[in-house]
Amino acid sequence: ATPTAIMVGSGLGAHRGVLFKNAAAIETSARVDAVVMDKTGTLTKGEPEVTDLVVDGLVRRRVLELAAAVERESEHPLALAVRRYADAQGARRLRASGFRNVAGRGAIAEVDGHRVAVGNRRLMESEAVDLEALGARRDELAAGGRTAVLVAVDSRTVAVIGIADAVRETSAAAVSALHEAGVEVVMLTGDNAATARRIADELGIDTVIAEVLPQDKAGRVVELQQAGRRVAMVGDGVNDAPALAAADLGIAIGTGTDVAIETADVVLMRSDPLDVPTALTIGRGTLRKMR
Ligand code: ADP
Ligand code: MG
Repeated sequence: ATPTAIMVGSGLGAHRGVLFKNAAAIETSARVDAVVMDKTGTLTKGEPEVTDLVVDGLVRRRVLELAAAVERESEHPLALAVRRYADAQGARRLRASGFRNVAGRGAIAEVDGHRVAVGNRRLMESEAVDLEALGARRDELAAGGRTAVLVAVDSRTVAVIGIADAVRETSAAAVSALHEAGVEVVMLTGDNAATARRIADELGIDTVIAEVLPQDKAGRVVELQQAGRRVAMVGDGVNDAPALAAADLGIAIGTGTDVAIETADVVLMRSDPLDVPTALTIGRGTLRKMR
């Protein structure tokens, strides 16, 4: 594009809080035909809250004090939700030792002489925890779009915690605007497949890539590129940075982590998913002017 067209494009973007970091970012925006969107913190608000607690074999308070002791050592947004809920329910604060974070799965620690694991099915599989117990409740929660977090004490499932993260008000409109522009939309998430599918259905997203470990997100973007797609990746987390870098166009949510913002080619200052189609429209308009 001509320098003038680029200046107009970046000016239009700035006006809407869509910051293109350089001229190449505007030009690439015009050519994107697939948009991969992270779920948590991008399509959703990233403010998870506990909505359900189903226990088996231990009283609720005991489950909460054990689970929260582990989650107090974790920086994961789900961990914060569990801690908040435990505090609100008046659970005692216990100390954990030997804390271990398991990326994309959960966390483990010793509390009160017990081995406590808090996380998803994969974590429980690797801990040889029986998945039958509370399995039906877990599946129900996932089918309802909740993230189901399991709590195991000494290798026995004692609870499933349902956690909800509201979708952003404009996520569905952003998806339909992208579809109207002829762009494929893909959801990419570390969350459970059933949970992700339910939220994708609510937003009109066809393709879901779920249960992806943080270190594998970039690889999934590359696979789409190898299938011939020009890919924009939209994300907010530390987890998303390698995928933002791998994509043809990395788009960061303005309230996202510093590393996501630094890695991206475009930053959405208003953290509004509708600014994703706006960015592509500005790119297309800029390219048209140069012809
Ligand atoms: P996302 O892409 O959803 O941000 P992550 O890779 O951070 O995903 O986590 C994937 C899954 O691992 C979560 O949906 C959750 O089931 C589980 N998980 C990870 N960390 C924790 C934790 N501290 N407490 C409970 N569950 C966790
Ligand atoms: Mg995220």
